[in-house]
Amino acid sequence: MSAAPALNLTRIDLKMQLIPCPWCGPRNENEFIYQGDATVLRPPDPGAVSDEEWTSYLYLRDNPRGLHREHWNHRYGCRQWLELERNTLDHTIASTPIVTPKETP
Ligand SMILES: [Zn+2]
Repeated sequence: MSAAPALNLTRIDLKMQLIPCPWCGPRNENEFIYQGDATVLRPPDPGAVSDEEWTSYLYLRDNPRGLHREHWNHRYGCRQWLELERNTLDHTIASTPIVTPKETP
C-alpha cells in the first residue's frame, strides 16, 4: 500500500471573481449564492400543466456555451437579489446586474 501523493498547493490558481453588486459595489463571489437559471419561469398555475411540463420546469435546464442569465443572492452582504448575465466560457459578467422583482426563484 502506497501513500497518497502530496497535494501541491502552489500550483492551484487562486483567482477571485468579483460580482458588481448595485448596492455594495464589486464584491468577492464568496459573498454570493447562485440561485439558478433566470430564464426558467415557474408556470403561473402549476395545476394546469402536464406532468411533462412540470418535470421540464423542475429538472430540465439548458447548458449554454456563452452568455447566460442567472439569479444570484448577495447572501453575505446586502442580501438583495440580482439577475446578471455571465459568460459560461470565461465567467466574465457581461452586463450590469439588475434587481429582480421581489419574487425569487
Ligand atoms: Zn450587495
